[in-house]
Amino acid sequence: MGKAIATASRTKEIIEKWNLHARKGYGQNFLIDPSVAARIAESVGGSGAVIEIGPGIGALTEQLALRCDHVRAYEIDGDFLPVLADTLQDYDNVQIVHQDFLKAELDQDAEGLKKDYGALRAAGNLPYYITTPVLFRLFESSAAFSVIAAMMQREVADRFAAGPNDPDYGALSVESQYLYDTKKLLNVPRTSFYPAPNVDSAVVVFTRRDDEAPDIEREAFFTFVKACFKQRRKTLYNNLKEYYGSAEQAQNVLENAGISAGTRAQELSVADFLQLYRSSL
Ligand code: SAM
Repeated sequence: MGKAIATASRTKEIIEKWNLHARKGYGQNFLIDPSVAARIAESVGGSGAVIEIGPGIGALTEQLALRCDHVRAYEIDGDFLPVLADTLQDYDNVQIVHQDFLKAELDQDAEGLKKDYGALRAAGNLPYYITTPVLFRLFESSAAFSVIAAMMQREVADRFAAGPNDPDYGALSVESQYLYDTKKLLNVPRTSFYPAPNVDSAVVVFTRRDDEAPDIEREAFFTFVKACFKQRRKTLYNNLKEYYGSAEQAQNVLENAGISAGTRAQELSVADFLQLYRSSL
């Protein structure tokens, strides 16, 4: 086997051979640091399948293929399909799906992989313009990914460590902290990509907790949390009034939970959200 795809020299060769032009609109910044690709893959490696978001020319896909039983990678840009068929020709455990990940039948696909391969994890050097919706999709999937390793903008990575009253704290923080233990694996400078983006990045690893509340319907709870944060500057009372379409119901729910009407969503911990949600049932 030759040089890793994630090296600067191999990436340059591939780009020249296929006359590729990185599309900014698709957030195309190729990873050119093989040790970073290897570390991401190690954190989701092991028996089972992995879903990858945005394989590009295969830098991370290759490392995943070396460590997982099966890789299913969703790529929106059709120009990469012949490239990937070439760069990943040595790996028979990779399936490339030409699709917008945000439009994929994720629950169906993921449940199928879980059935066929046992464990299911997810990884990606995420396109910056859709980092948040991609993470919401992964968190909200019925397939319950056991580990997710994602490269993202450093500012977004900070949101996962944010607690109540922190400006970065929001629905994404609450969902992730409810389901996952979160750790920043490493900071990645912009020079580790070609072309170099304008921001620095970090890899965050989410490991599924085993204490999800059995009495809570996850999807409905997350819809409720998002409604509480809908307008950050508004009080919980005002956001809930809009959510229910009833001032009386909003008031009752807050009263039952013992939370004052002037409180804002960003003041509540995950435990407070659970309490508030339970009082609404
Ligand atoms: N994984 C490669 C790497 O590490 O070098 C490429 C990473 S690049 C930051 C993001 C990749 O996601 C690009 O290949 C881009 O075309 C792809 N992409 C962008 N939007 C997408 C979407 N909605 N669904 C699937 N792939 C997408």
